[in-house]
Amino acid sequence: MSNRVLSGPPSPEEFQRQMAEFMKQHFRALEPKGSASADGVGAAEERSEENRSEPRFEFDKTPKDVKRYLDRYVIKQEQAKKVLSVALCDHYHHVRQAVQSKEQSNYAKQNIILIGPTGVGKTYLVRCIAELIGVPFVKGDATKFSETGYVGGDVEDMVRELVRRADGNVEKAQFGIIYIDEIDKIASARQESGRDVSGRGVQTNLLKLMEETDVPVRSPQDIAGQMQALMEVQQRGKKSSNVINTKHILFIVSGAFDGLENVVRRRIREATIGFAVSNQSIKDDSLLDQVSSRDFIAFGFEPEFIGRLPVRVVCHQLDSDDLCLILKNSEGSIIRQYEESFSAYGIDVQFADDGMKRIAELAAEERTGARGLMTVCEKTFRDFKFELPSTIIKQFSVTREVVDDPELSLKRLLQENAQSESKMDRQIVYQFSAQFLELHGLKIRFTDDAVDGLIAKARTTGKPVQDCCEDSFKDFQFGLKLIAQNTKQTEFVVDWKVVEAPDKVLSEWVVASYRGCKAEEGK
Ligand code: ADP
Repeated sequence: MSNRVLSGPPSPEEFQRQMAEFMKQHFRALEPKGSASADGVGAAEERSEENRSEPRFEFDKTPKDVKRYLDRYVIKQEQAKKVLSVALCDHYHHVRQAVQSKEQSNYAKQNIILIGPTGVGKTYLVRCIAELIGVPFVKGDATKFSETGYVGGDVEDMVRELVRRADGNVEKAQFGIIYIDEIDKIASARQESGRDVSGRGVQTNLLKLMEETDVPVRSPQDIAGQMQALMEVQQRGKKSSNVINTKHILFIVSGAFDGLENVVRRRIREATIGFAVSNQSIKDDSLLDQVSSRDFIAFGFEPEFIGRLPVRVVCHQLDSDDLCLILKNSEGSIIRQYEESFSAYGIDVQFADDGMKRIAELAAEERTGARGLMTVCEKTFRDFKFELPSTIIKQFSVTREVVDDPELSLKRLLQENAQSESKMDRQIVYQFSAQFLELHGLKIRFTDDAVDGLIAKARTTGKPVQDCCEDSFKDFQFGLKLIAQNTKQTEFVVDWKVVEAPDKVLSEWVVASYRGCKAEEGK
């Protein structure tokens, strides 16, 4: 028996340390000479042959091509679309040339700052561009980072995520786009307000990525990944690419930058002291278009950090007319989503102009940009999505009334549907009677209460009315024929009592018809 003291399971850190030690001891012997060690340290210096082979990169777009593509999806933000199209084309043409000529030029990367409130299309613009160019795209949130790494990793994890988005293709990942939102929250001047304590350190970490560095494909903390890499070495005898170079990765950072306008206004005022500049000439909506590096530094960014982000793009708030245009004209309009999800049930939803206008008005009140459209649509269509697929309704129109009071509109629609459904069901019962006459030469005349009874029966059993008629009167063709032979009767009235117990009533009728027959004979 071991005399070791059992002290419970190890902490995650201790487990990781032990595991790394174990990996070193057991797998080092399997690595080919010159490959990186299991802990990933020194991976940058030990780039494999495979990774050194020059990547290929095709790009032949002009800024107008990019802008035209963006126009299909992103409404308004004209200036932002233009500036981004130019910056993106510059970047990717440079990448193509650098890859082809293999020369190291002094080109300064066109990393971008996107300024604008929430939901106005900042991420959407970049996502659309990444799709057009066919490069992987990763979005991160600056508030998740800390100087020493955020939960489960650090800023380098975004680079590794690019590889995952590129289906493991490291080459492709090296041309990707990394988008970091809420960058304004790591401006270190904010320390005083207690909002951020490690902004400076995070800026430094990001700076390294934005310049050029090699990031190990597998995080040193990722024991499973390290193990897998070593298994591959064992199986294939050679290592696959183990570092990602960030030289050609485009970095786009964004944020709302609340308060930056005041910084810009102050600077402009100070610069114009002594000149006749009225407040009027410093218009609020154009202030951010005049933002300079000085303003960003005053806002709390490190000069080196802001210097690596030379392209500044401003996205403006969207008003209700813009939101209406998004609904109507954007190829990515949320309306298409609703049309598709209703059409999966064969339901054709039509958006009337006044309906779209009302959705846009209510969305604008939310003050969350185009995100408000989703909120309003979700609220409007929630119950329609639940109820309509199990009705016979195949079409409905989204008017202003529907958006203003979805509950009442749905209730009305369901009532109308119930009426027309019941009309159709009655028709089915009469058709059954007509078919019976045609097939057997005998007429079943249903009273109104019998028709109601059959429809109610269908509803409670969940069967279609036709099936319910066939089940209820399955023996009538034989029974009524006997009666007709005995009594010459060819028309039979079916009321609700018959519907309640069809077999019992039929046998009573048959018995009675024999009695009648006997009485006739005895005469
Ligand atoms: P943010 O500016 O906060 O990054 P997003 O770009 O993520 O906002 O916008 C959220 C969603 O709203 C997008 O996915 C898109 O569907 C829609 N949207 C936002 N702005 C626009 C716009 N200008 N034109 C068309 N759709 C937009």
